[in-house]
Amino acid sequence: MPALTSVSGFPRIGQNRELKKIIEAYWKGAASLDEVRGTAKELRAKHWKLQAQAGVDLIPSNDFSYYDQMLDTAILLNVIPQRYKRLAFTNPEETLFAMGRGYQGDKGDVTALPMKKWFTTNYHYIVPEIEESTEIRLNGTKPFDEFNEAKARGILTKPVLIGPYTFLKLARNAQAEELTYDKGLVNAVAAVYAEVIKRFAALGAQWLQLDEPYLVLDKEDGDVSLFKSLYAKILPAREDKIKVLLNTYFGHIADVYETVNLLGFDGIGLDLNEGKDENLAAVEKYGVAENTTLFAGVVNGRNIWRNNYAVSLGLIDALRQKTDNVAVSTASSLLHVPFSTEGETALDPAVLKHFAFAVEKLTELKEIAVLADSDEDAKKASADLAANQALFDGTRVAADPAVAERIAKLTDADFVRQPARAERQKEQRVALGLPLLPTTTIGSFPQTKEIRAERAKLRKGEITKAEYDEFMKAQIDACIRHQEQIGLDVLVHGEFERNDMVEYFGQNLNGFLFTKNAWVQSYGTRCVKPPIVWGDVSRANPITVEWSAYAQSRTNHVMKGMLTGPVTILNWSWPREDITHEQQTQQLALAIRDEVLDLEAAGIKVIQIDEAALREKLPLRKTDWHAKYLDWAIPAFRLVHSAVKPTTQIHTHMCYSEFNDIIRDIDAMDADVISFEASRGDLVVLDAIHDAHFETEAGPGVYDIHSPRIPGEQEIEDRIYEILKKMDIEKVWINPDCGLKTRGNAETWPSLEHMVAAAKAVRAKI
Ligand code: GLN
Ligand code: ZN
Repeated sequence: MPALTSVSGFPRIGQNRELKKIIEAYWKGAASLDEVRGTAKELRAKHWKLQAQAGVDLIPSNDFSYYDQMLDTAILLNVIPQRYKRLAFTNPEETLFAMGRGYQGDKGDVTALPMKKWFTTNYHYIVPEIEESTEIRLNGTKPFDEFNEAKARGILTKPVLIGPYTFLKLARNAQAEELTYDKGLVNAVAAVYAEVIKRFAALGAQWLQLDEPYLVLDKEDGDVSLFKSLYAKILPAREDKIKVLLNTYFGHIADVYETVNLLGFDGIGLDLNEGKDENLAAVEKYGVAENTTLFAGVVNGRNIWRNNYAVSLGLIDALRQKTDNVAVSTASSLLHVPFSTEGETALDPAVLKHFAFAVEKLTELKEIAVLADSDEDAKKASADLAANQALFDGTRVAADPAVAERIAKLTDADFVRQPARAERQKEQRVALGLPLLPTTTIGSFPQTKEIRAERAKLRKGEITKAEYDEFMKAQIDACIRHQEQIGLDVLVHGEFERNDMVEYFGQNLNGFLFTKNAWVQSYGTRCVKPPIVWGDVSRANPITVEWSAYAQSRTNHVMKGMLTGPVTILNWSWPREDITHEQQTQQLALAIRDEVLDLEAAGIKVIQIDEAALREKLPLRKTDWHAKYLDWAIPAFRLVHSAVKPTTQIHTHMCYSEFNDIIRDIDAMDADVISFEASRGDLVVLDAIHDAHFETEAGPGVYDIHSPRIPGEQEIEDRIYEILKKMDIEKVWINPDCGLKTRGNAETWPSLEHMVAAAKAVRAKI
């Protein structure tokens, strides 16, 4: 019998982002909830069918979500804070959306729950909040309904849930602190999962997958016993009627493998891409329980490249030294890869054949499973294997010697900006003449329909470049006037010419490739379309200089130039796998360095280099942070700006506030100013800034731009006072917590007006 094949999760947004479109239409009042439900149902059916046709044995269900699977899990456990319950919506979806994105209307006014990055991905999950009064119990029937829905279509799926351990480790209390895992809480959560198992067994499910990615993190005191006590309570509910797959991904579980193995799971999912050596060593050392199937995560759920079959077969063989029960699986959910290469007609077939998106990965999974059960002769005769091998023989692209030469010539001095920051900050204060608590924004302003339409017209050749430039300049002019009117101090041009902060730069760099439709989910209905690093990277032409210089010529205020940093460009692209991330980042750093110097030469005095994704690729285990990442990522940022004049002010921006644990590294980026998110989460980072004697001036975002809600002036003023309790006023900047491009003008301008008014009010009082 060929090895079982299993998919951990499938993209849910739809081949053409149908789910995004219908939900956003519903939010705007242009579609009904029933239409949303209808589209969702069609998408689920389509995705199950695709997997069934590809011959996948264990097809996931409940991997679908309207907004986020963590939010779904919270709701399933009745972890719904009172403030959302009080809105008393009739439809559960309305409560769900209020939790995910906030609500302001006739039923009340609530902010959204915080959102955080899902491990090392660019996906964001909603952080569940467990209040004192929360009564944990099974709530709703979503997983069962979706299982039944598939069953009615003749597909017996493997339901997927986020596991109790990961749920509890990621949930927070009402004060946004980690939970205390007392007996009552653990029992209540375990009871819900036990009940879920029983129900699925009754419905006829054969497998249930519980995702426990939190297991790949370093363990703190009590973690292993928490895990054990949860599962010791949950697993007996199987009563031999259903199998439970404990699924892990994004790293290895070598430090708990022995415990996991002893608990008697029917399946253990191991990531054999990330953390493969440690996972293999653990299996080697502790073996595999008799009735346990190892799910070999060989098909990468995080890249777009074809699988190297020889490598995957080797990994499966290694596991088979210890057990015959090996299933072939995706290494993680395919949520993090685009839907299909079908339709990417603009790419050269010679290039495209190196790519595998979600649909193509299904075929790979099946082919690998078949090959894994073939004898040597059959393998030799296999056309699939031969075709696959050919992709990895020889070099894929020619190297660019000029890039290599430039990197070889770098010296330590190229990574250090002179003079020291404290000195520069003094000079900049004089040169820029800004008030205390200077106000600014993060760069982008709302990307209206008209703006996007104009870009599309240019792309389709319906307008000339001159007409396009004219239009964009008018947008910039209007945006500058508006910023001047409301009294912002450091202005921006609005980034109207950019589709996306990474793709835009990629398009102007050598070495990148682009897709038409390779979208992946980022948060809620938001998707990103990362470019692909195909060859050596260098800057083709100046990228932003003309726009920034134009904008500066239209105002007497300081105009901030806006760039994306090398670490973020790489982290939000699909990196090559034939050279290291460090090498790719250095190439990018040199390209952006050219742009920084050209901006400075064009008279731009403040330059922001966004590193929105810096933290994202921080290795999950702390012990790897420096050696495997920060030791090259931070210097790469310094390489970008080290050659500017002391009076040129370098800003950076990060879309999160969770950097108290790497605060010294952030300071070592040696930027003059940093803006970051602080409005949704807690303000712990401010303590860290205080305690670390953080040198970089900082703008902790004073309001949340991920929600359409308009913050009041008083609310922002209060926030500023909170910040001033922790930071030296000379170092504080006032800004929203991220770019405004996803917002509408209707909420953006009043929000900014309140922000500026609040800053002025505070200035007047101190
Ligand atoms: N400058 C970018 C913008 O304002 C930053 C976006 C981001 O950090 N995600 O859109
Ligand atoms: Zn941001």
